[in-house]
Amino acid sequence: MTSSNWFDSQTILDGIRRWVEIETPTESPEQVNELVSLVAEQYRGLPVTLERVAGVAGCGDHLVARTNWGQDRPGILVLSHLDTVHPVGFIERLPFKVEGDVAFGPGIYDMKGGAYIAHHAFGALCATGDRSPLGITHLFTSDEEIGSPTSRALIEKEGRKAKYVLVTEPARDGGKIVTGRKGVGRFQVHIKGVPAHAGSRPEDGRSAVRELGHVILALEGMNDPARGVTVNVGLVRGGTRPNVTPEEAYAEVDLRVVSLKDADEYVDRILALTAKTDGVTVRVAGGLNRPPYEKSNAGASLYEHARLLAREIGFELIDTHTGGGSDGNFTAAHTATLDGLGVDGKGAHTHFEQLYVSSLAPRARLLHRLYQTLR
Ligand SMILES: [Zn+2]
Repeated sequence: MTSSNWFDSQTILDGIRRWVEIETPTESPEQVNELVSLVAEQYRGLPVTLERVAGVAGCGDHLVARTNWGQDRPGILVLSHLDTVHPVGFIERLPFKVEGDVAFGPGIYDMKGGAYIAHHAFGALCATGDRSPLGITHLFTSDEEIGSPTSRALIEKEGRKAKYVLVTEPARDGGKIVTGRKGVGRFQVHIKGVPAHAGSRPEDGRSAVRELGHVILALEGMNDPARGVTVNVGLVRGGTRPNVTPEEAYAEVDLRVVSLKDADEYVDRILALTAKTDGVTVRVAGGLNRPPYEKSNAGASLYEHARLLAREIGFELIDTHTGGGSDGNFTAAHTATLDGLGVDGKGAHTHFEQLYVSSLAPRARLLHRLYQTLR
């Protein structure tokens, strides 16, 4: 392939299709591993050393591809996840298909498209015999969609060694890059009351569901849009039957914060929730799952560099802050991190997930230029 063929959008889309058609829900490690094997296979002949980290705790393997140069000093870490939120068989509902500029498929936008173009851009670099000034390490993980419990330590270790981190999460709102992300907290609230016959002995009961009502209002009352704090009670359960005073109730809570200071304050407030009713207990577990990140000085100059490269290629790179967490949250505190370098599209985690074909070539070129120019 000549270098212009490398950035032909049909060629790139054909490659993405192969990755999309292997369904990879986080909970199906054998499926994820099938894709890991394909990716490893596609590195054959390229000047990298592969390390396959065996999956644990019901997750699939992680794959690390390190260039055979530049590994003795801080280089570029590319972060991608191969898992998706979609269950096996979802592809029947959302088959790979192209309509005009739109290509559909499970995980095509979040983030197989982005993972693939970063891999493809590396192939383009090697095809011309070029070596990037910095060593490149591409880490493919298997558990991002459940909060990266088995890859976090690896991400942090590689992130600390790197000079730059490029995250191939999808672009936002019309191609925007991500230079800040909110921190994410997760909590489980367990409420225990006293059961009773709701008709004949109501005075003996202490309703856990009624207490849950207080808890929900207290949590929802913590929302502070001006400060960028959101608290969402996203799942509730409780009780057994209409004629029984409920003994148990349960809630799951999502917290998003912009700063570490807010993270500390809100985590403390949520963990400190107590029962308003005598005889009822409220127990809260959980905490901060991903720390927030904001644009650091190093992050700002990395963004500026990428913006100029994008302009040479012919598009405007605009930065944004998002409430969504990613593995970039684990690296941005200590290493310049640029996120949202994946493909443009919409519908992450939905039955209409899609990428824009016209975004493939320019964004693959941008990654290629970042590899060539970061030093
Ligand atoms: Zn993602």
